[in-house]
Amino acid sequence: MLILEHVKKIYDNTVVLEDINLEIEEGEIISILGPSGCGKTTLLNLILGITESDGGKIIFDGKDLTDVPMEKRGFNIVFQDYALFPNLNVYKNITYGLRNKPDISTTEEVGDLIRLLELEPHLDKKIDQLSGGQKQRVALARTMVMKPKILLLDEPLSALDGVIKESIKDRIKTIAKEYHLTTIIVTHDPEEALTLSDRVMILNEGGISQFGRPEDIIMAP
Ligand code: ADP
Ligand code: ADP
Repeated sequence: MLILEHVKKIYDNTVVLEDINLEIEEGEIISILGPSGCGKTTLLNLILGITESDGGKIIFDGKDLTDVPMEKRGFNIVFQDYALFPNLNVYKNITYGLRNKPDISTTEEVGDLIRLLELEPHLDKKIDQLSGGQKQRVALARTMVMKPKILLLDEPLSALDGVIKESIKDRIKTIAKEYHLTTIIVTHDPEEALTLSDRVMILNEGGISQFGRPEDIIMAP
């Protein structure tokens, strides 16, 4: 379980996040929804450990993460622009993180992910030969081989359209359920948040204005 207690973040004398309190159960898919500039990325970065908070506590499985550096937290993020290596082929991109840590995922487990994300036909291709949806699947595979304890996704569907969007949405749900993986998704798209997640958090002016199941969320007109 992930718990945030009274988490606060200040940038340049401006309070960006104020008194954030929440509990996320293992295996839940959570969307963080809100307009541009409301602090979504900041909240993600605080959980990930990229950014230091200015107060409060982040607790994971009973352990206070305040002094635990990012690489020891065991959380992993898929960035909005995927951040793949253009000069490496798909297989090398997927297994890149394992090069010094071959004990994390076995070859068989890597194979399972490649099959789940239907990437077998593309393994020898370079990144710039792929479509947006294929890139997103490579980015998901590359992150999943590291066996994250929490999966963070920053606007995972924003570069995709139509059918591809739906298919990536299904893949994210399948992965979260199959691996019983806590998944936190940042988005500015209400439709995406409501259809993708078990619970939706709405951030507004630095605080959580709603946090509940999609059917209980009231959307502003
Ligand atoms: P969102 O992801 O919801 O668009 P952000 O978390 O990126 O919002 O930003 C929230 C606010 O914090 C914005 O006003 C932004 O300008 C400010 N901010 C974010 N990161 C920094 C930073 N590193 N330094 C100063 N201000 C920042
Ligand atoms: P998004 O809306 O997709 O979250 P942003 O453009 O708000 O993207 O932010 C992109 C990155 O730039 C974030 O990591 C954020 O922390 C950083 N950032 C945002 N605003 C500022 C700022 N005023 N000064 C420094 N860094 C910022």
